[in-house]
Amino acid sequence: MKYLCIEFINTEWYNFHEMFKEPLKDEKLILDFFNSWNIDFKKPLQNNQIEILLDLRDLLKKIIYSNCKNEKIDLNDFRLINNYMASYEFKKNIVFENGEYNIIEVLTNSYVNLVVYKIISSFFDLVSENKLSRINYCKNPDCNWLFYDESKNKTRKWCDNTCASLMKVRKYRNKLKSSNNHLL
Ligand SMILES: [Zn+2]
Repeated sequence: MKYLCIEFINTEWYNFHEMFKEPLKDEKLILDFFNSWNIDFKKPLQNNQIEILLDLRDLLKKIIYSNCKNEKIDLNDFRLINNYMASYEFKKNIVFENGEYNIIEVLTNSYVNLVVYKIISSFFDLVSENKLSRINYCKNPDCNWLFYDESKNKTRKWCDNTCASLMKVRKYRNKLKSSNNHLL
């Protein structure tokens, strides 16, 4: 299962892996990312909007990793999250689409950043669906990619097989090294 807020935090990973740059500062990458979540924006994000996204990512990252490590979440961080949401106002409209009546929510103040709203809403979904405890991070210290742990007892440690085999080899080598030291 994937949550926008989690994949959004994971975008930071690309600063230190694969493309070694900040996806949020790359016009094409940021568009591709949000389009893959069915969020399309008409024009490129302005620098101040990107700064808002970077701040939001830091904040969500802090909350999610604290929770993964069973540390207490700083309640002030929730206040900050709620502050982001304070500027959103919606109205409900009825529309006729694809042969059926639908009730849709329409933003009444178009100046606010819809992307921020969607990301935080996805975090709220994670909490209200009681799935926050399913989110964990890869225990390869060079990775830390966040994932949704579907295992029965929430015991998954690695983001993928690459990290798993890498860490197993490292563990084996350390073991070998310590037993060799023992022999000396
Ligand atoms: Zn990993």
